[in-house]
Amino acid sequence: MPLRERTIRTPALVLRHREIGEADRLLVLYTEQLGKIHAIAKGVRKLKSRKAGHLEPFTHSTLQLAKGRDLMIITQAETLNAFLPLRENLAGVGHASYVIELIDRFTYENEENPRIFHLAIRTLERLQRAKDPLLVLRFYELRLLDLLGFRPELQQCGLCQAEIKAQDQYFSAERGGVLCPNCGRSTPGARPISMEALRYLRHLQRSNFQQASVARPRPEIHTEMEILMQHYLTYLLERNLNTPSFIRKIRHLDTTDHVPPAIEND
Ligand SMILES: [Zn+2]
Repeated sequence: MPLRERTIRTPALVLRHREIGEADRLLVLYTEQLGKIHAIAKGVRKLKSRKAGHLEPFTHSTLQLAKGRDLMIITQAETLNAFLPLRENLAGVGHASYVIELIDRFTYENEENPRIFHLAIRTLERLQRAKDPLLVLRFYELRLLDLLGFRPELQQCGLCQAEIKAQDQYFSAERGGVLCPNCGRSTPGARPISMEALRYLRHLQRSNFQQASVARPRPEIHTEMEILMQHYLTYLLERNLNTPSFIRKIRHLDTTDHVPPAIEND
């Protein structure tokens, strides 16, 4: 969206930041109105800066932005939700970091999509109170893929169009979805997927969150779905995501969380 006004007020989610100079901070934001943008916060690292706490990663803030010569400048920041419960443990930080990493990797600057913004905010809210955060993440991935135009086909074979029957199947990232056993066996790169994992993914794909959240996949099915989704997302991005390996690592550290055991992806 071309920005005509000199200043704009918009809700925003902080994706990442880096320090520049002595006191300034360069931020990558996903805003409701402008999509992904870079913006600079001046003097944010000075003692008692009133902006600092509002500009941490995965903070939902209302920002006042002014058009600078090269970059947008953050002139005011007000926190709407810092998602403090997620910051209390490594698993929460890992899950929230994964939510914003996917947005960062899959979106381009200045292409606004308010639905992606709202999905991310709702997902962080759901993670705060989730009994099963992995289910929240799988639901998020499938919705995000819908919004990005990469919805995986889970109902019929991507090659022969045969209706998928109640048996173990294959999944092909290249073909964008599930393959019947006949086609899957002869397709390079196709990976087996159990009927149980496929059934849960279909349920998440076609349900609203309330319906989706009643699902109770067994831990090994959770692991299978996670590996499959990461395989598909990585294929789409053509490079590896950072946070899944971080999430797997902290599972070894944080034994209070009831998450499936780590399994290395290939
Ligand atoms: Zn087929």
